[in-house]
Parts: sequence; structure tokens; C-alpha cells
Amino acid sequence: MTAVFPYPGFLPTFESLDEERLHRKQRLAASFRLFGKFGFDEGVAGHITVRDPEHLDRFWVNPFGMNFKHIRVSDLICVDHTGEVVEGDAMVNRAAFAIHSQVHAARPDVIAAAHSHSLHGKAWSSLGRLLDPITQDACGFFEDHALFDDFTGVVLDIEEGKRIGAALGDTKAVILRNHGLLTVGETVDAAVWSFITMERSCQAQLLASAAGDPVLIDAEMAKLTASQVGSHVSGYLSFQPLYEKIVREQPDLLD
Ligand SMILES: [Zn+2]
Repeated sequence: MTAVFPYPGFLPTFESLDEERLHRKQRLAASFRLFGKFGFDEGVAGHITVRDPEHLDRFWVNPFGMNFKHIRVSDLICVDHTGEVVEGDAMVNRAAFAIHSQVHAARPDVIAAAHSHSLHGKAWSSLGRLLDPITQDACGFFEDHALFDDFTGVVLDIEEGKRIGAALGDTKAVILRNHGLLTVGETVDAAVWSFITMERSCQAQLLASAAGDPVLIDAEMAKLTASQVGSHVSGYLSFQPLYEKIVREQPDLLD
């Protein structure tokens, strides 16, 4: 999707791979705190990953079983393409590896991927259909999300992860039927913003559909709006107030 955004060139640049890695890990730790704050945690389910800037077949992820609300930069673990933890001393969630390793492999442009069993996302996923362009925010997903129209239990097999990667195609989000949402981005910021706004778009459509028949935005206008609010750069921008707020509120996340 072509980005039409009024502030080109404001994405951060880095002097070194170490600096870029630290930046990605800080955004990742903050994202877990935000997922916790938004109530997207459910037991040990859910994972957000970010590709390592140097070893492109490795990604950073949350340690299995740790509450999102407690995660600090120093708690993050790094996993290689075989599922081995190469940095950190915690276990990786097998489903996180099965899904995210295949999404990162299928999409070299994807730096980060987010998934959790958030309430409205999983409720919407049970309908087995795409979101409609019923609000300005929902237009961000117009012709830019997909449906994984299958459910085969907890995803522990990388073959299932491959099928999810194939369903995602070149879009930025996939609804996993009877399971929940998965979003991707060219930055942690964009992937996580997409998750948050997609979860709320599911909530909005559930609410509107329960009350009546929502008016659809016509395709031409939905496409235009998607170019305004749906790009990765726009997602990056939308995430910044959330990042600023969570770091000010919970500065220990940077430890
Ligand atoms: Zn899941």
C-alpha cells in the first residue's frame, strides 16, 4: 500500500546496530506494558516479536510465562531460526516461535509482529470475516488485512505458522479464526499500533452491529482514508503518545 503521509523522513536513524537493537528492545518492552495496560494479556498467551537488526533470522520476544506488566528490556530473550534461545535465560513460548518465525521468514519487510488473545479481537475472529470500513480508523485496514480461515488448536507446528504467513500475504494484519488478531509492521511502533487500533475496530464493529446496520464508507473513500491512516509511518506516529506516556508512568521498563 502506498503511503501518503505529510511528514516524510521522521523515522529514527541509527549510528550503530547496537543502538538500533536497544531502540527496538525498548519499544518492545514498552509494548508489553501497553498490552498489559489495555488488558490484552490472558494467562501465558500472546507475544510480540522484533527482528534483530544484525542477525536477521533472529528475533526478540517476551520470556514465556512472564506477566506483560512486569517486562523490562533486560527480560527480553532472543531466539534463532531453529527456536533456540541465544540470549537470555528464559524459555520461549512454542506458539510464539511457530507463528512468528514463519511470519518473519515469509516477510523480510516485517520488523515486528504482535499477537494476543484480546477480547474483541477474538470475539470478532469467531465470525470468520474481515472488518468492514465503518469508521475512519477501520479504513486503516481496508484491503490491507486478511483472514486465516482455519483453526487447528494451539499453533505449535511451524507448518501451521507457514500457513498463517501465507494467509497474511502482503497485508499488515490477519484475523486468525476462532483465535485472535496478528499484526505486523516495519517498526515495533507500527505493528503494535495496528494491533491496538484493530482490536478497537473489532470492538466498534461488534458494538455498531449489535445496535443496528452500520453505514459503510464507500470503497473509493475507504481507499483514500487507508492511505492517510493505514501506512506504517502513520502507525509509527500514532504510537508515539502511547510510548511517551508508558515510559513516563513506568520508567523501570527501560531497565
Ligand atoms: Zn494465540
